[in-house]
Amino acid sequence: MEAPYEEFGSLVFGENELRERLPRPVYLSYKKTVTNEGSLDRPTADAIAHAMKRWALEKGATHYTHWFQPLTGTTAEKHDAFIEPDQHGQPFTHFSGKNLIKGEPDASSFPSGGLRATFEARGYTYWDVTSPVFIKGSVLCIPTIFVSYNGESLDKKDPLLKSVKVLSDASTRMVNLLGEKDVKSCSTSVGLEQEYFLVDKKFVDARPDLKLCGRTLFGSPAPKGQELDDHYFGIIPERVSAFMKDVNHSLWKLGIYAKTEHNEVAPQQFELAPVFSDGNMAVDQNQLTMEILNKTAEKHGLACLLHEKPFAGINGSGKHNNWSITTDNGQNLFSPGDKPAENIRFLAFICSFIRAVDENALLLRMSASNPGNDHRLGANEAPPAIISVYLGAYIEQILYGLYMNSPAQSGKKETVTEFNPISGLSYIPHDNTDRNRTSPVAFTGNKFEFRMVGSSMSAAVPNIVLNTIMADSLNKFADELEGIKYLQDVRVKALEVCRKIIHDHKRILFSGDGYSEEWVKEAERRGLPNVRSFIESIDILDDPATIDLLTKYNVYSRKELTARKAIYTEQYIKTVTIEVRTLLEMVRKDILPAVTADLKFNMEAAAACGKKVPAYLKNRCSRLDAAIDDIYLSAEKLDEKFCALSAEGQTSAAGKKFYYEICPLMEDVRKAIDSYEVIADKRFYKMPSYMDILYTL
Ligand code: ADP
Ligand code: MG
Repeated sequence: MEAPYEEFGSLVFGENELRERLPRPVYLSYKKTVTNEGSLDRPTADAIAHAMKRWALEKGATHYTHWFQPLTGTTAEKHDAFIEPDQHGQPFTHFSGKNLIKGEPDASSFPSGGLRATFEARGYTYWDVTSPVFIKGSVLCIPTIFVSYNGESLDKKDPLLKSVKVLSDASTRMVNLLGEKDVKSCSTSVGLEQEYFLVDKKFVDARPDLKLCGRTLFGSPAPKGQELDDHYFGIIPERVSAFMKDVNHSLWKLGIYAKTEHNEVAPQQFELAPVFSDGNMAVDQNQLTMEILNKTAEKHGLACLLHEKPFAGINGSGKHNNWSITTDNGQNLFSPGDKPAENIRFLAFICSFIRAVDENALLLRMSASNPGNDHRLGANEAPPAIISVYLGAYIEQILYGLYMNSPAQSGKKETVTEFNPISGLSYIPHDNTDRNRTSPVAFTGNKFEFRMVGSSMSAAVPNIVLNTIMADSLNKFADELEGIKYLQDVRVKALEVCRKIIHDHKRILFSGDGYSEEWVKEAERRGLPNVRSFIESIDILDDPATIDLLTKYNVYSRKELTARKAIYTEQYIKTVTIEVRTLLEMVRKDILPAVTADLKFNMEAAAACGKKVPAYLKNRCSRLDAAIDDIYLSAEKLDEKFCALSAEGQTSAAGKKFYYEICPLMEDVRKAIDSYEVIADKRFYKMPSYMDILYTL
């Protein structure tokens, strides 16, 4: 590999290492496990473990860990050294097949939502053979699932793997029915665009809200925001460039194809996108990416803010989940081909997707939600909380043409193949997608881009939901084709099913401005749900149809769903609780003393003026006097309500009260502080402002 990429994959025990280091039969047996055609026996596992250990020791690793993704949404690890004493007390290194395959972390403190009593610490981790082992620092990390003693899943990876299989089966069934019998399995391809903010670390140290909550709880807008659009795709500042270089290098070593980097819309907001990969691996790699962004920022004296809305009034951050389905012989099932109107397989998959989204809009909404995303969805330049699908005019016309029974070719291709903007360029790649950045679910050429997902979230749940709802819709479609003898008749029937789906689900298609007020009204008229908050979105986990769907495919059990709802509820209440406490602490220890000192200074100045007090001082004293009251009284009101509601326990009803009663009171405090901040004297008010934080890199 050329010099800058020399170390690509050097920290991954990947395909090459496996092939080179394992005896041929062991390697083949491992490959069978990966493709689900066999299970690992003890000698094979031992041989792989041995090779892995040798490789890890050569790379300087001293420990190994089962790396898993508990329901906190982050990753967890417990390290064990390879070194042990032998029976003579002499040191030797040890890592067996059993160590590789199964672990028993004493992980009783992770949320289990009642799936596991705390006194029973047992939870087990099992190696996920489909995601590569890697080295982080001096630790060999083995991606694993995390389940309870009874086999209930305690993590986000286990249901993801199940959903991948469910979708593979359904897609394969459908493709086979449509005539391609040689397809044996399908997988998802996922590309996760990651948005984030970078700020100088010193500001985070000076702001407890950024430090503890990941977002500012108050702060008046800087005189300049993002209105000039001068940050988007602009020149990347040098300090950020150095940071990105470091990030890329770390990611490449881990075999992650970090590809695109650019400034985002808001000041000091950026994006990183890797090349898409297998869905399960992409989710793991995104977790690693977030970790590396955080760590690298620290090394550069920066802080990486992954929160969905660190600053009010400017864009928040998302994680765009680009998703498609690929057959084992490499065909993208969302690829329109040259003649999409005649491509029945394409039409069937697109229509199945449309139905999946319309029937499960609430579940999809939930899958992209977390407490932080409440501040982003529907706010500045973020997708609304209403789910709709954007297909682009070209594909939409084809579908409507099909629906109206007019010749299927009616779609007018909006390509630029004829247009040659620069003389001398003989080849201009064509692009048959137009763009609508305001849609939460957009078809972008040969994949769907789900833009609602919060930037700090694990991408597991959105993919679990996409995979499962699509599988169900495909299976319904396939049911209608089953038993038809001749392929020609299958194709006729498939078109009929597509027409019916378009008829029943066209309400979910929307190509206008998703950020507009009119759309909110129009969506309501169409009967599309608009769930405002995370805490309300998780009610879908109690919905009988949703429970049926998820349990039918064994992606979650009923108990696991109940547990998740309990955990999400707790997570929400805890998040708001931390925010309220932080806000009150800052009001009492920083803000009120600052305004008081400011007022005292001005009152003394006014007194020194004798009889003729300048208007400026008079005005200032009365505004500061009012500010003290506003801040103090709004904070006391918040505290009172918070104390009362905190006593209600961590129920869903209490969570909704937190959203509808506590959050607006926090907003009141914010408004009071912000109006002081506008006139604050910097000698007394030391809190870094938006202007300080967002215009320094
Ligand atoms: P944009 O910002 O224009 O939407 P980016 O290049 O930033 O595009 O990100 C697009 C993401 O989609 C990348 O991660 C890319 O690898 C991924 N992607 C491209 N094709 C597919 C596909 N067929 N399936 C899934 N992801 C894809
Ligand atoms: Mg992008």
